[in-house]
Amino acid sequence: MVQIQDSYCTLPVHCLFSAGSSRACAEGASALTICQNRFQRLRRAAQNGAACLFGYYTFMHTTAPNFTLQQITSLLPLEVRAQARPAEPMSAHTTLRVGGLADMFFRAEDTKALAAAVQAVQRAHAPCVLLGEGSNVCVADAGVRGLVIQNACAGLQLGQTTLVDCGFNMMRLAFLAVRAGLGGLEWAIGIPGTVGGALVSNAGAYRGNIGPLVRRLEVVEQGERKWVGPEWMEFSYRNSRLRCPDAPFAALLQVELALAPCDSALLRARARDYQRQRIAKQPWIPSAGSYFKNINSSPLAASLPGLPAALKQAGVVPAAFLAEACSCKGLRIGDAGVSMRHANFIVNYGSAAAADIRRVANTVRQRVRERFGVELEAEVLSLGDWEEAD
Ligand SMILES: Cc1cc2nc3c(=O)[nH]c(=O)nc-3n(C[C@H](O)[C@H](O)[C@H](O)COP(=O)(O)OP(=O)(O)OC[C@H]3O[C@@H](n4cnc5c(N)ncnc54)[C@H](O)[C@@H]3O)c2cc1C
Repeated sequence: MVQIQDSYCTLPVHCLFSAGSSRACAEGASALTICQNRFQRLRRAAQNGAACLFGYYTFMHTTAPNFTLQQITSLLPLEVRAQARPAEPMSAHTTLRVGGLADMFFRAEDTKALAAAVQAVQRAHAPCVLLGEGSNVCVADAGVRGLVIQNACAGLQLGQTTLVDCGFNMMRLAFLAVRAGLGGLEWAIGIPGTVGGALVSNAGAYRGNIGPLVRRLEVVEQGERKWVGPEWMEFSYRNSRLRCPDAPFAALLQVELALAPCDSALLRARARDYQRQRIAKQPWIPSAGSYFKNINSSPLAASLPGLPAALKQAGVVPAAFLAEACSCKGLRIGDAGVSMRHANFIVNYGSAAAADIRRVANTVRQRVRERFGVELEAEVLSLGDWEEAD
């Protein structure tokens, strides 16, 4: 049992660390002696210990930089506090299967509790991240400081004006809409994640996007729960105001979507066709979907001899086309690699670290930059504490 005072944190760190191997033990010991002020290193050593066959660890630690775990906990409404748990591995909540520990984790199944938790952290300016199904994120190996709220609120009133909680599964919503003869979401069959995650990135496929369907949204911003119009989101291609790195933390609670009555058999055929195309092209190894955004540039499209005519005409250059032209398919660093099936999918072959995923992404970006003079922009969002990895 060790107790260290960490100058980086505001309260002492208590750490009980039991190593399951001599390597983990040595790492733990060196982290303690060399870096008593470096809480990050200590935590990483503890994580390595936990990964060993017989190792286990517990720790009660503080969060960076001005909020202790106790302070964050005490901010939360009582019913949330009872369900929140410390040191939750984010790899269990992301489709890429990477990511270290979240300081504190709460799975919200009720919009009232979700809104109350978000209001509390916003009013105190405490660190908080809202997560859907983690299908568009790469979480740092060092984890996430502060509170992570997983949105699992799943209320639905289906109709031409559909009111749906942002924690509702997008694919299920699309399936129910198709079955009910409501058009507009067929493209979403096969896309994992929640309605909230889809809104944040203006998700879409096969020329359909969620943005144009939005009539209004309920959000929590600066501690205030309110309804806003779609212009609040500032939707553009795979983008919204919530993706801006300096955007203040806001939470999407529920959304009203306008769906059009349509022949159900027609919608089903369309959805089936999209699904077939998806199955033919995409890998089924853990990933976060397309890693980079496609590029809208008519001059670039015109300059590429092998690009299909339809894409030339639309002025769209798929990131996969550029990556494939740079021989990125099959590129591998550790257990992270570019899929052999799709050059814009970075996949986790087993036990990849988030840092490996990022190294593969940076290599693809560099090759494309050198060959085509084009800067690829990530569609996958980086979450958490990336400072030490960079
Ligand atoms: C195999 C595969 C195929 C995919 N295909 C497509 C595709 O064809 N088209 C496409 O657009 N995407 C695709 N994706 C990406 C991804 O599925 C979508 O972007 C999805 O909408 C993300 O939803 P999520 O709930 O998983 O979001 P998460 O990954 O959990 O979160 C994404 C971002 O949104 C924020 N966020 C989530 N919920 C809220 C909320 N309620 N309020 C505020 N912020 C929130 C998070 O903080 C994070 O910054 C694919 C992914 C995979 C794994």
